Amino acid sequence: MTDPPPAKRRCLGTDCENDAGDLQCPSCLKLGTKDSYFCSQDCFKRNWATHKVMHKTAQGKLQNGIFSKLITPRVVSEPDPVTGFVNPFPAYPYTGSVRPVYPLSAKREVPKTIPHPDWSETGIPKAERRLNRTKIELLDAKGQEAMRKVSKLGREVLDITAAAIKPGVTTDYLDEICHNACVEREAYPSPLNYNRFPKSLCTSPNEVVCHGIPDHRKLEDGDIINLDISLYHGGYHSDLNETYYVGDKAKANPDAVRVIETTRECLQKAIELVKPGCPIRDFGPVIEKHAKSRGCSVMATWGGHGINTEFHPPPWIPHYAKNRAVGTCKPGMTFTIEPILTLGRPKEVYWPDNWTNVTVDGKFAAQFEDTLLVTETGVEVLTARLPDSPGGPIPMPTTKDIADGNETKNA
Ligand SMILES: [Zn+2]
Ligand SMILES: [Zn+2]
Repeated sequence: MTDPPPAKRRCLGTDCENDAGDLQCPSCLKLGTKDSYFCSQDCFKRNWATHKVMHKTAQGKLQNGIFSKLITPRVVSEPDPVTGFVNPFPAYPYTGSVRPVYPLSAKREVPKTIPHPDWSETGIPKAERRLNRTKIELLDAKGQEAMRKVSKLGREVLDITAAAIKPGVTTDYLDEICHNACVEREAYPSPLNYNRFPKSLCTSPNEVVCHGIPDHRKLEDGDIINLDISLYHGGYHSDLNETYYVGDKAKANPDAVRVIETTRECLQKAIELVKPGCPIRDFGPVIEKHAKSRGCSVMATWGGHGINTEFHPPPWIPHYAKNRAVGTCKPGMTFTIEPILTLGRPKEVYWPDNWTNVTVDGKFAAQFEDTLLVTETGVEVLTARLPDSPGGPIPMPTTKDIADGNETKNA
């Protein structure tokens, strides 16, 4: 799972680098759009002309919803009479093609015999919130061995879940596979009830930046999808994610390949830097430089994080250039690096579920994550891919591949 920087929100103003203040756009609030924060009244005014377009979209969707209700009984705001599924936020101005398909399936249970983290009942990660955010834990040999074990299990669960990806499969089905694979390994799926996240894994297709909630939406040929898996076993957490192509159409889409493969390479380039003495602020510039060289941008809101007996302890690890992260790699440190890149503007907006965040322009986003251990001489990638792991890099499609992809689409 991805960690937000400690209590920071970016101003919605175009090209504004400031953190957001308390000022929310009043029209957005009226329309039910949360998270329209600006840094100042001034910036809000300056951006009004571009920002108000969002209201039109929101209102249009609202009116369309009402209008279609009058002429056809099959509206999104009411359950489909055949399937019983419903879009829970029909008036929301979606930025891309993905829609939530509710109701969510019932909460999946973890047997009491498996040790649970402290948020499993209340939803609140109490111990994690009490942590001193400047103190970075160093693991002894026993702790490192426990991290190796839980990370190996995490890789197994990701590979088992990813092997089920194909057009027509729902993200809820992937959640069921992930949940059962965790339980079979005597592991608690860390996202389950973490700050009240309702499912055992995060599924983030297409324009979803991260923290998508598994539901009854079926994967489509041409989608891309990130699976973010976290496990708690033997008193330690592991965390890893990869983005996958759904069907052949996605592999023939040069934009999908560009964002996925560039993100994969960005993580690789950052991992290559990890060794004792390397400042944590050094990862961001390397990631952002490579992203830009391919016309991609880094989503700055989300960062990597420490990981050990806690799920998201310090340090927070930014993926962008000119960051001021403190701390240096030391043997025994365990943390994640997990860059998210997009083909469009690096700004996100939230769905009304308060978890799913999507690119503001609906363009694809991709992410890759590994759990790492700093060794005496370098780094051990605890969640590394295995020779038979599903997914993996593919080359940019040739003109012929693209033509073939189009043929499939038209057939
Ligand atoms: Zn993470
Ligand atoms: Zn993760």
